[in-house]
Amino acid sequence: MAGEPQADCVFCKIVSGDIPATVVRKTERTLTFRDINPQAPTHLLVIPRVHYADAAELAAAEPQIAAELLVEAGGAAAGEGLESYRLIFNTGAGAGQTVFHAHVHVLGGKPLTEGLV
Ligand code: 5GP
Ligand code: ZN
Repeated sequence: MAGEPQADCVFCKIVSGDIPATVVRKTERTLTFRDINPQAPTHLLVIPRVHYADAAELAAAEPQIAAELLVEAGGAAAGEGLESYRLIFNTGAGAGQTVFHAHVHVLGGKPLTEGLV
């Protein structure tokens, strides 16, 4: 069923506690933790606790949770002391998405002015 945990999903396992993660923030509906393979001094992932394959699917089904991801991303960036940061939603394998549970990357702590890719 839509939104239900998926047995083969690494982020569902982080939500359930079956896989450990360095969690920096949580709400009833979201979790924010450090990326295991950081691409910047601060690299966080904000995810919904419910399973949707990507941010667009989440936004279509649960717009309030999708909005909460952005609120949490901003709060997490502030918590890291970041004035500037980049949010990335990789959507689809061709865009580099490797975990098919909606998430937003929060990147910061170094200059990010050289372009998008
Ligand atoms: P994507 O490429 O799908 O947008 O991003 C998935 C991100 O999840 C990658 O940056 C990857 O490093 C991160 N990741 C994958 N598996 C784990 C894990 O088990 N723990 C954590 N903390 N991050 C993970
Ligand atoms: Zn999942």
